[in-house]
Amino acid sequence: MPEVPMTHRFAGDTLVVASHNAGKIREIRDLLAGRIANIPSAGDFDLIDPEETGASFAANAALKARFVADGTGHPALSDDSGLAVHALGGAPGIHTARWAERPDGSRDFHWGMERLEAALNEGGHRDRSAHFVCALALAWPDGRVHIVEGVVHGTLTWPPRGVRGFGFDPVFIPVGHAITFGEMDPDAKHSISHRAEAFHRIVHDCF
Ligand code: IMP
Repeated sequence: MPEVPMTHRFAGDTLVVASHNAGKIREIRDLLAGRIANIPSAGDFDLIDPEETGASFAANAALKARFVADGTGHPALSDDSGLAVHALGGAPGIHTARWAERPDGSRDFHWGMERLEAALNEGGHRDRSAHFVCALALAWPDGRVHIVEGVVHGTLTWPPRGVRGFGFDPVFIPVGHAITFGEMDPDAKHSISHRAEAFHRIVHDCF
């Protein structure tokens, strides 16, 4: 593993979560509980989300954290994540959130999960393997940025099961388990998820 510069160590009592996604904000706060005193989110500063113009999870995470660090004057942590379905060549990938957008612009993950099932059925695909990716970026107001990634592999299942978690959790069964992330106790998800793996990395490197 490459050496992490000492300048990438977080020191301070405020870290802004660069997201408006309630599910992600909750998971990030849970994962950082006890380490940082104040964990506001971008919404507390009336900041909107920047356009995600990057070509990768890492690039999008970096631009979101940069935007919030610049806008608030505090270090900011962002998460860019999504689901890569192997039979669909890695789609929806960085466009995962968009797959849950209805034509009127509202977000509906049940609709997104139906669309995903339809795409697999239309293509005649039998392979239901997929993985979630999470890129985390920590950006400082002075321009420093540190990026890590985590992955969890699994299988997709329909109909969706469970009301815990968020997003595409009800159709994702992680490897080695018989239940979906949507059915899983949040602590159990936090111990194996793509976000948990990325968190272990960033905690190791920066906290
Ligand atoms: P973005 O990172 O804001 O572009 O959105 C990522 C999208 O990926 C979310 O809106 C969810 O649909 C999906 N996603 C990311 N992480 C998870 C997860 O842990 N469970 C379920 N869905 C997730």
